[in-house]
Amino acid sequence: MQTTTHFDVCIIGSGPGGYVAAIRAAQLGMSVAVVEKRGCFGGTCLNIGCIPSKAMLDSSEKYHTAGATFARHGIIADNLRIDLATMMSRKEKVVQTLVDGVAALLKSNHITTFSGIGRIASADTVTVLTPDGNISVHAGSIILATGSVPAQLPALPVDHELIVDSTDALSLDRVPRHLVVVGGGIIGVELASVWARLGAQTSIIEKMPQLAPGMDTQIARSLQRSLAGLGISMHLEAQVVECKRQAKTAVLQAKTKDGRIVDFPADKILIAVGRRPFTDGLGNDRVGIELNESTGRIMVDKGYQTSCRGVYAIGDLVHGPMLAHKAEDEGIAVAELLAGKPGHVNYDTIPSVIYTNPEVAYVGRTQEECRQQGIDYGAGIFHFKANGRALAADHADGFVKTLAERGSDRLLGVHIIGPNASELIVEAVTTMEYGGSAEDIARSVHAHPTYSEAVRESALAVDGRAIHAPPSNL
Ligand code: FAD
Ligand code: NAD
Repeated sequence: MQTTTHFDVCIIGSGPGGYVAAIRAAQLGMSVAVVEKRGCFGGTCLNIGCIPSKAMLDSSEKYHTAGATFARHGIIADNLRIDLATMMSRKEKVVQTLVDGVAALLKSNHITTFSGIGRIASADTVTVLTPDGNISVHAGSIILATGSVPAQLPALPVDHELIVDSTDALSLDRVPRHLVVVGGGIIGVELASVWARLGAQTSIIEKMPQLAPGMDTQIARSLQRSLAGLGISMHLEAQVVECKRQAKTAVLQAKTKDGRIVDFPADKILIAVGRRPFTDGLGNDRVGIELNESTGRIMVDKGYQTSCRGVYAIGDLVHGPMLAHKAEDEGIAVAELLAGKPGHVNYDTIPSVIYTNPEVAYVGRTQEECRQQGIDYGAGIFHFKANGRALAADHADGFVKTLAERGSDRLLGVHIIGPNASELIVEAVTTMEYGGSAEDIARSVHAHPTYSEAVRESALAVDGRAIHAPPSNL
């Protein structure tokens, strides 16, 4: 056993939670160690999550757009074909560039890195298990940022061949003929989009009454229509009954909403039913770190401290949405708190984005939540088909919905399905962060012609003042 020197903080896991916490702690003058078992930095997000999925979404979108829309722009693109190997290697290059970038950032911030499995030995010591022996890392504070892994369905165990998880589905070596996706959440709809665009006959089996449960119902219906336009068949309130396997294919049987048993032939079945926090072998039980019994997430106080003094936890391991930007902000907050600064995360203004086409993005309360919470609100909707930029760009599907409290006009939520929704949502996030109103957005000058004018028009529509919509639409 080799014992290293003492660090102010030791972080286990180098995903967006862990590496961002490390950089911020180093900026604040702390000596920092990061332990990562993957062999490279960046966690789920950079290696097998956000980045490779967006690379595949962008490549597949280019292929699909060329085939489906170029002709009406007067561009003839005959003989379109897919070179899947090139598509995959481009994705790998994007991932490698970003992973190398994180390594360079850790180095330039003088952060010490250890490659191996980190295990909590005591409240101030992490043991790093490496092929060459164990290393003991002493630290004033320990931050756990070990993220999450795909949840499993016992009836459909992932074999990485026929039944795959999201990691496998980002690296298939051929386009499936029949892809069945179990789970119509964010991963389900994004990866169904990728493979449907590339030619797979794709079905989604979702147990709840809408896709991506929790999302604004009107947006979910609109998303469902756009996915149907890609040829994806969606079965809501459906349950998998049985999987009859042959050598390389299967017939998945599901009970649909109307009680029928429907056969889904498949040469790939993607299990996308959520993710579970990853604490396996972490040693949290040794030091009495409490987990939430139903979710398995590590319980933390407002300062991210676990039930073991000196040990903190952030990211997918703890409460809240499993999102990279949420993990990053918690990484910054915990580092600032350790430095005696007032770090915090505003959980009311965390945006969610689904990178379908059109994209979906939202922040704040839904209309359903406003009703449930007895909030008196006004809603304004503006459709992209009345937005000049969207028409010019041939991206006129979708709408923006703005919700504001009656009386105070405080912005409660903004829900977008449409072009560049992922970028447009930041205006709503910033306005809400400042406690702003629909009027604040409505009174701000938006460049013309831009998609962002639709956000402004929806804010005007809260009071029936949208300019480019007939009064009956408001
Ligand atoms: P992770 O990124 O999971 O990192 C944890 C790290 O800890 C890993 O590198 C792991 O190897 C390491 N580790 C675990 N245990 C140990 C140990 N004992 N010792 C040493 N190292 C250990 N979120 C978004 O916001 N936007 C998106 O577009 C998006 N797309 C996604 C697409 C997919 C397909 C998936 C699966 C996820 C996506 N997410 C997205 C979610 C996002 O990836 C996670 O919310 C985010 O990565 C969580 O960050 P984290 O730092 O908590 O953990
Ligand atoms: P999810 O929680 O978003 O969706 C899981 C879906 O599976 C739900 O709709 C659920 O009702 C359904 N489901 C559960 N059990 C089922 C069953 N037995 N049969 C049929 N349906 C079932 O989880 P996910 O899509 O796996 O994504 C995991 C996490 O990764 C999410 O928390 C998400 O925030 C994150 N993620 C984010 C992005 C993004 O920000 N664009 C992209 C991908 C993943």
